Amino acid sequence: MIVIMRPGVSEEQIQEVCSRLEAAGYKAAISRGVERVVIGAIGTLDEPIRQMLIDQLLVLPFVEQVIRVTKPYKLVSSEWKKERTKVAVRDMLIGSDEVIVMAGPCAVESREQLLKTAYAVKEAGADVLRGGAYKPRTSPHSFQGLGEVGLKLLKEASELTGLPIVTEVLDVRDLESVISVADIIQVGARSMQNFSLLRELGMVDKPVLLKRGIAATIEEWLQAAEYIMLGGNMNVMLCERGIRTFETYTRNTLDLSAVAAVKELTHLPVIVDPSHASGRWSLVTPLSLAAIAVGADGLLIEVHPEPSKALSDGPQSLTPDKFAELVRRLEPVAKAVGRELRMGGQKQ
Ligand code: PEP
Ligand code: MN
Repeated sequence: MIVIMRPGVSEEQIQEVCSRLEAAGYKAAISRGVERVVIGAIGTLDEPIRQMLIDQLLVLPFVEQVIRVTKPYKLVSSEWKKERTKVAVRDMLIGSDEVIVMAGPCAVESREQLLKTAYAVKEAGADVLRGGAYKPRTSPHSFQGLGEVGLKLLKEASELTGLPIVTEVLDVRDLESVISVADIIQVGARSMQNFSLLRELGMVDKPVLLKRGIAATIEEWLQAAEYIMLGGNMNVMLCERGIRTFETYTRNTLDLSAVAAVKELTHLPVIVDPSHASGRWSLVTPLSLAAIAVGADGLLIEVHPEPSKALSDGPQSLTPDKFAELVRRLEPVAKAVGRELRMGGQKQ
């Protein structure tokens, strides 16, 4: 349930509510909005005890309302937090009026490949460099990523270009080394319900990009985000990357309605990955334009200097030239929906 405090409550009054919730067996989470303080009660109680607690709280003059939350998530919901979350990454705020673009290779393959791509996407205006060092591959025989070597290369690329890094953590044992390089930690679609990983990420001080599972419902996706936030890490971004449907022409089906839905249901920034959604480079630009039109706060795009030689996801990778053209075409669409394209790479 959620306790909504009256405007202008004191710290003591907030603490009073928190201690009552905790004494009853809940965990209290405080959200301090511009207008109101809202306290989330996390946990479950037997119904009669819960009802008694609600009655007691409603007697307090500084409590305005107690709302029962019937949804299986709370902290991610726009009911719980009215203002939209803006995730700070260096000097950038993701989820603000500025649309951001993350771009780079599917996997870090070599120093030359990564640096070539990094400089090219920066010049085209990308704000964040992507690149996987640990790759979740369907076949154990496929290229699995360069691991620690890949992380070192990402660090170097970031130092040389000034671009922040988003990279995936696959295994909780690699978390520390990934954190030392990543500005944003990516949770891949296949790991969306790796609950022990999600819990660990709840305790770190780094933004998390949570991809939607390949066959996850919106509700399952949001509960996965709730796992992270429950640990205290509120810097979560949702990433729609296509879901599995009966359609086989595209690698997945980009669920644009989910983008609009999670913008409504949650206060979190939403990123769209049209590369994994479509599996085809020729569809990446039109889907990117549509994603921004529907309200996405940013894009995650695969770019490779020579897609025909890529060790993973070549067919969906844009060449640097095509990526630069995509960025040019994004600008008027962002403007049409009242936003600006940040073009961070070009500002440095
Ligand atoms: C990726 O970003 O390269 C990736 C593996 O994505 P997903 O988890 O969405 O398949
Ligand atoms: Mn990929």
